[in-house]
Amino acid sequence: MPFDPAFGSPGSFFKGNIHTHSNRSDGALTPEEVCRRYREAGYDFLALTDHFLPKFGFPIVDTEPFRTAGFTTILGAEVHAPKTALGEVWHILAVGLPADFPPTSPDESGAALAQRCVDAGAFVAIPHPGWYALTADDAATLPTAHAVEIYNHTSHVRTDRGDGAYLVDQMLVAGRKINLCATDDAHFHCDDAFGGFVMVKAVANTPYELLAALKAGAFYSSQGPTIEQVTIADDTVEIVCSPCQAIMALGRGSLAEQQIGTGLTRAQLPLGKLRRGGFIRIAIADATGRRAWTNPVWL
Ligand SMILES: [Zn+2]
Ligand SMILES: [Zn+2]
Repeated sequence: MPFDPAFGSPGSFFKGNIHTHSNRSDGALTPEEVCRRYREAGYDFLALTDHFLPKFGFPIVDTEPFRTAGFTTILGAEVHAPKTALGEVWHILAVGLPADFPPTSPDESGAALAQRCVDAGAFVAIPHPGWYALTADDAATLPTAHAVEIYNHTSHVRTDRGDGAYLVDQMLVAGRKINLCATDDAHFHCDDAFGGFVMVKAVANTPYELLAALKAGAFYSSQGPTIEQVTIADDTVEIVCSPCQAIMALGRGSLAEQQIGTGLTRAQLPLGKLRRGGFIRIAIADATGRRAWTNPVWL
């Protein structure tokens, strides 16, 4: 039976933000202060991912000094290369880079750079596709990326373009086995933190275990609501969650099943027609409109 590794593998859930900036690139706060804010907000881990550009000295910020007993960090960066279909500079999120990751050269392509990040051990995500109108053809040029940001909080706050579901679904219907993540991409020039996060199922809150779980797809994404369990049987999928007004199973194209109500904490949805599309992903929404998303499961 297919299962979602976020709910079918051992361990506990750890809350983290895997996309953030400090004043080592274009963020407002020091790395130490960014870590302190996430730690005090109850996060278990943070990846500081400053812009890996020559004008900032290609920073891979060492956040290890800011780890505490209950809070860890993963080193990473947002790397850049020419160029997307619109002629813009690629943004590629790389979580879990070595501190000595070699700088990009001016002629390195986005595809080559993403591959180099994967080869260096990173979890690679395609960030904020809505923010800069990234196309499905662009995304297809990064065949080894692990995930697409389904939600980028600062893009939502600053441009109303925080949503990435359109790209996720286009890639899925094309058969691409890709996961999805929610992030803050906080820069702290405005109130752009604590709006999108991942819940990673890992056996320990260590950079190594978190990274392994991210790459294995053992996580879900949220703006607030909690997904406690997803169980796939022959004919149904059962979802247990924090109180919501919509619990949805989404498949290929317009295929969908849902339960809509008040204070829903459980739903059992039929899989029948969804099986035709080859995959499902679960989305829930609470009474304030905040959402949470599982990774797709291939049936
Ligand atoms: Zn970016
Ligand atoms: Zn960013």
